[in-house]
Amino acid sequence: MTRASRVRLVGAAIVVAIAGCAGARLARVEPAPGPVVTAPPPPAAPVIEGIAKSVHAAMGVPKDGDDTDDVLLDRDAFVLSYNPKLEDPNWVSWRLSAADIGDVERQDDFRIDQDLPGGLYRVTPKDYAKSGFDRGHLCPSKDRSTSPEVNSLTFVMTNMQPQRPELNRHRWKEMEEFTRDLAIGRQKQLYVIAGGIFDANPKTIGHGVAVPKAAYKIIVVLEHGQGAKDVTAATEVIAAIMPNSKSVTSKPWTDYRVSIDEVEAATGYDFLGRVPEDVQRVIEAKRP
Ligand code: MN
Ligand code: MN
Repeated sequence: MTRASRVRLVGAAIVVAIAGCAGARLARVEPAPGPVVTAPPPPAAPVIEGIAKSVHAAMGVPKDGDDTDDVLLDRDAFVLSYNPKLEDPNWVSWRLSAADIGDVERQDDFRIDQDLPGGLYRVTPKDYAKSGFDRGHLCPSKDRSTSPEVNSLTFVMTNMQPQRPELNRHRWKEMEEFTRDLAIGRQKQLYVIAGGIFDANPKTIGHGVAVPKAAYKIIVVLEHGQGAKDVTAATEVIAAIMPNSKSVTSKPWTDYRVSIDEVEAATGYDFLGRVPEDVQRVIEAKRP
């Protein structure tokens, strides 16, 4: 297995999701009653640690009040939380710098994510067929374009959300290009988190893939080699919420900029959890 294709399933949430123990955290799950024949092997590592150690989660693993619908996957090129109820990623998080951007052709090999644990529905490209929605990358293809292998990783369906063409091909794409301009033109190191905002009973396509009502993105702009401890009240952050509708093109993408607090309120997730609390408070409240 290449490093690029290696995937670790991590997180208490994933175990909880498989076992269906709603509301429980791994650490609190009691062993099933009955005779114990052999002691279970110790876990290879505290499960949350794997993803938390990833450079792509350096700002913190986004967390909401319900771990049971966060199946955490480390895809090496990015990390993500898959929501089995929505059949969509909750969020995808990745580090981006100029070194990630090359001139490899788009692989366009959209495919099911074989690394989702058994028992969970695996979204296929067919779920999007004739739906009118694009397979909208969260971590963009171009952000991983230094080799065919790494580019191909962005085409797993767990990196996709149903996006209106007006969003995917215009305003969302323009923000993606703006982000790469920060990486290339200003030589910044960026931490990017993207996902969707869903109604309580969202419209679905195919097998039951929920259509987000909006897409969000958060960008933390740092210098090379910097991490969460280097974030200060003066650190540049950019966030946006864009409606997943035809009318999204009525305004430039920059008109969809919001504070990170607004994204947290709309999604229920706490982002940038590894940034000191007092700094989070300041930068998350910053209005564009
Ligand atoms: Mn796209
Ligand atoms: Mn936060």
